[in-house]
Amino acid sequence: MKRIGILTSGGDAPGMNACIRAAVRAAINVGIEIIGVRRGYKGLIVNDVLPLTRDEVSNIIHTGGSILESSRCPEFETEAGRQKAAATLRNQEIEGLILIGGDGTFRGGATLADKITVNLVGVPGTIDNDVYGTDFTLGFDTAVNCALQAIDRIRDTARTFQRVFFVEVMGHHTGFIALHAGMAGGADSLVIPEDRVSIEDICSRLQEGHRLGKRSAIVVVAETENPGYSYQIAQEVTNRTGFESRVCVLGHVQRGGNPTAADRVLGSVLGAAAVQTLADGKKDKMVGIVGGNLTYTPLEDTWERKKELNPQLRQLVQQLW
Ligand code: ADP
Repeated sequence: MKRIGILTSGGDAPGMNACIRAAVRAAINVGIEIIGVRRGYKGLIVNDVLPLTRDEVSNIIHTGGSILESSRCPEFETEAGRQKAAATLRNQEIEGLILIGGDGTFRGGATLADKITVNLVGVPGTIDNDVYGTDFTLGFDTAVNCALQAIDRIRDTARTFQRVFFVEVMGHHTGFIALHAGMAGGADSLVIPEDRVSIEDICSRLQEGHRLGKRSAIVVVAETENPGYSYQIAQEVTNRTGFESRVCVLGHVQRGGNPTAADRVLGSVLGAAAVQTLADGKKDKMVGIVGGNLTYTPLEDTWERKKELNPQLRQLVQQLW
């Protein structure tokens, strides 16, 4: 393999830059040229590429976002868009392509299969952690720590004013961030898509806590399709219980910031592993880490199979409130 490409697509996640840096240096170390594609599939369509050198990836390991930028690219979902993307790969003589993103990105890459002979390898990068085939995705640990820092701060004011706080974290269709930040932050209750608790359940838990002497409470809510959903819950809880409530929607602050050590290590390991996977002639795999071991998951499993929340952790967070 002489030349490979790399792109970041879909939602950005801290740790992507550590991954790009590792891939570039690992490729150069084994004599493979590496080309960066800007703005995900958009860059493939419009031929927006740049050769990546050691220098190009200097001083980025500690930064959030992606130096290659990202996009959601509806044009890539059309046949005409994919034809253009395939032409860029052929013209650039790219033989292997590293896709850093979520299952949507991998699914999109696979739709090129009938047009190109490029070997694809995926690296799971999304703060939501909802990718099958890896314990953790790039950006998840950073996002959880960001949410946790907010919860810790809110706990101070919640305690002082004897209020119920609803902290809404990201996680579009999944409660990974809510579960981990809620566990670490000592949440009284969780509202996650995997476990639709009723308003009655939330109220009775808060009332029980009040009887036990709790003077404040924190409920961690995973955002739904409609961010801001927790305002509705808070209002209903206040109407029913009389408890004073406040809402804090964390939103996009969770996407940015310096990656944690865990995300930098994960990005570095997976970036280097992605290059090695291509150098070994493997294709259509996602590299991940499961139970401390490097794994190679067929790309289609990432959108056909669903990663479940850890059931023990779910149970424990309900018991330790
Ligand atoms: P993520 O990779 O974070 O899951 P998205 O689901 O937004 O993010 O996917 C990123 C991009 O991948 C989309 O904007 C689109 O260009 C491409 N993509 C996703 N799903 C498909 C699909 N079924 N067919 C073609 N392209 C797709």
